[in-house]
Amino acid sequence: MEEGFTLKNKRIIIIGAGIAGLATGCYARMNGYETIIYEMHDKPGGVCTSWKRKGYTFDYCIHNLAGSGKRAALRKVWDELGALDGTDIIDHEMFVRVEGPKGETLNLYTDLDRLEKHLLNIAPEDAVAIKKYIDAGRALAKADVFAMSLGEKKRWLGMLPRLPAVMKWSKVPMESYAQRFTNPFLRQAFPHLQYDVTGPEMPLLPNLIFLGGFEIGDLGWPRGGSLEFSRRIARRFDALGGEMNYLSFVEKIIVNNGTATGIRLADGSEQYADIVVSAADGYFTIYNMLDGSYTNELIDAYYDHFVESQSFGLQVYLGLNRDLTNEPHALTLILDQAITLEGRGRNSLYLEIFDSATGMAPEGKSVIKVVTEGNYNYWRILRKDMAKYMTTKDTIAETVINVLEKRFPGIRKQVEAVDVTTPVSVQRYTNNFHGLQPWPAPKGDFQIMQKGLSKTLPGLNNFFMVGQWAGAMIGVSTAAVTGRNLVKQICKKDGKRFVIANS
Ligand SMILES: Cc1cc2nc3c(=O)[nH]c(=O)nc-3n(C[C@H](O)[C@H](O)[C@H](O)COP(=O)(O)OP(=O)(O)OC[C@H]3O[C@@H](n4cnc5c(N)ncnc54)[C@H](O)[C@@H]3O)c2cc1C
Repeated sequence: MEEGFTLKNKRIIIIGAGIAGLATGCYARMNGYETIIYEMHDKPGGVCTSWKRKGYTFDYCIHNLAGSGKRAALRKVWDELGALDGTDIIDHEMFVRVEGPKGETLNLYTDLDRLEKHLLNIAPEDAVAIKKYIDAGRALAKADVFAMSLGEKKRWLGMLPRLPAVMKWSKVPMESYAQRFTNPFLRQAFPHLQYDVTGPEMPLLPNLIFLGGFEIGDLGWPRGGSLEFSRRIARRFDALGGEMNYLSFVEKIIVNNGTATGIRLADGSEQYADIVVSAADGYFTIYNMLDGSYTNELIDAYYDHFVESQSFGLQVYLGLNRDLTNEPHALTLILDQAITLEGRGRNSLYLEIFDSATGMAPEGKSVIKVVTEGNYNYWRILRKDMAKYMTTKDTIAETVINVLEKRFPGIRKQVEAVDVTTPVSVQRYTNNFHGLQPWPAPKGDFQIMQKGLSKTLPGLNNFFMVGQWAGAMIGVSTAAVTGRNLVKQICKKDGKRFVIANS
C-alpha cells in the first residue's frame, strides 16, 4: 500500500453538497469512511435546485436526466443513491417543439421512427439529409454515450468503432447541417432544436447524443423537480450515517508539507481529515481556498479563458393561473420581431411548461420558465445599484410576457408570480465563478476528456476534486459519477473492495 491517506483512511471532508458532494459522501459512507460534508447554503443540491413562490415551484435545473431510463447504464447510479426513490419519471413524447413566425411547427419527437416520419412529412424533398440525421442518432443509441463517464473498459471498447462518427459530428455545427435541407422552415428551425442554443459554435453532436438517449428510453424528467431530487440523495447520505453541516462556508484548505489536512471555515474554526475533497466551485477552490499554489498551465489557461455570456444564464419564471396541460412541455418560439434583453437582440425564445401533474404548480395552474443566454458582467455592473438591478429584471419579465401574450393570448392577466435569475444570483447562491457552468477548454481537450481538468492538483497530496469543475463537464449524472469514481479509486488505493448498496 502507498504512504499517506492509504495508511489511515478513515475521515473524509467534502466541501459542497451539490450532486457531486452528495454522491461522494454516499459512496464514501457505503465503503465505511467517516464522512463529513460542509455546505455554505442551508440546503443541498447546489445548482440542482428549485424554490417556491406563491404556491408555485420554480425549477432551476434538470431538463433531461441521463440515467432516468431503466435501460440506461447510468440508472444504477441513481438507484444506488436513492435519487429516484418514491418518484416517477416523466418521459415526454417530444423533446421540443419549434414554432415558426407563421405558425409552422417542427416537433422533435423522442420516438425516432415518429420523428423521421414527421420530418419527411414536412420536407419529403430532404429525405437524404433527414435519414442521415436519424441514422446518426440511432447509431449513438447503441453506445449509451452518457454512461461513458462510468469509465468502464467495455464501454470505451464499444465506443471505439463509433469514434470517427463522434469526431465528425462534433465538428459539424447545427447551423451548417441545417443548410443541407432545402425546405425553408426546416433550415430555419433545425438550429434551434437543442435548447435553442444557436450559433456557429454549437455542434450537432449533443443533439445526436440526445436522440441516442431517447432511443433507449432515457433523458426523462423526475417528477417533483430538481431540489426534491437533490434532497433524496441528501436523505440517503444521512441514512448511511454521513454528517452534514449546512451554513458552513469553507474559506481555506489547510495544507501541511504539500498534504491537505483539513479546512478552515468562515467562523475561523478548523476541521481535520485524512482526505479533503472539494465538490465546490473550481476557481474558488484552486485560487482562493488554495491561493493558486497548486495549479498548472492547463488549469490556468482554462480559467483565463472563461466566457462572459452563457446559455441558460438568464431565466424568467412565471406562475400562471392557467392550465397549459395541452401544450408541449418545451417550446422554442422563432420571433417575427427580435426582442432586446440585456441590451442585445434575440430572435427566438426557449420556454418550458410545467403543469400541475409535474408537481410544480397547483391544480389547474402552470409554470412557464424561459431560458436564455445571460451575461455576468452586464448584471454585475447593474447590481452596484440595487434598484436598477431590480428594475431591469422587471423590464425583462415584461418583455417576455409581451412575447408570450401573442402565443398565449390573455396570459398577462393570469400571471400570479414572477421571478428572474441572473448569473449574479447563481454566483451568490452557489459560489460558482461568474455564475457559470464549465465552458469549452481553450486547449488540451483530449487530455481533459481522458483525465479531467483538476481531479487532483499538482503537488498536493490527499486532496481531490469532484463535480462539474473537476472534469470541466456539465451534467448531474457526470457530477455524481465523478464522486463514485473517486471513492472507487480511494478504495483501490486502500486495498479495499469498492462496495455499493442499493437504497
Ligand atoms: C440552468 C442549468 C440547467 C441544467 N440542466 C441540466 C440537465 O437538464 N441535465 C443535467 O444532467 N445537467 C444539467 N445541468 C448541469 C448540472 O446541474 C450540473 O453540472 C451539476 O448539478 C453540477 O453539480 P456539482 O455538484 O458539480 O456543482 P454545484 O451544483 O455547483 O455544487 C457545488 C456546491 O458547493 C457549495 N459551495 C461552493 N463553495 C463553497 C464553499 N466555499 N464552502 C461550502 N460550500 C460551498 C455550493 O453551495 C454548492 O452546493 C444544468 C445546470 C444549470 C446551471
